[in-house]
Amino acid sequence: MADGKRCGVHTELSTSPAAKITRCGCGTVHLHLARSGVTLQLSSEQFAEVSATVAGAHDALKAFHSGGRPLADDDNPTIN
Ligand SMILES: [Zn+2]
Repeated sequence: MADGKRCGVHTELSTSPAAKITRCGCGTVHLHLARSGVTLQLSSEQFAEVSATVAGAHDALKAFHSGGRPLADDDNPTIN
């Protein structure tokens, strides 16, 4: 990695208040997390895997927050 290209011009791929993702002149994807100030430099392949993992966690968290437990009998509405 010592001979890798230097970081250069960044092309913005996506941004939000929480994070900014750019394609860097060094050939990696830079994932900057605003709150922690951490920047991860990932290859395209690593970024794809991280993205899929984050998306999976996001889906799981949404399910969890929306009462993601399996439907049980006591979830039935009152029967008149
Ligand atoms: Zn770079």
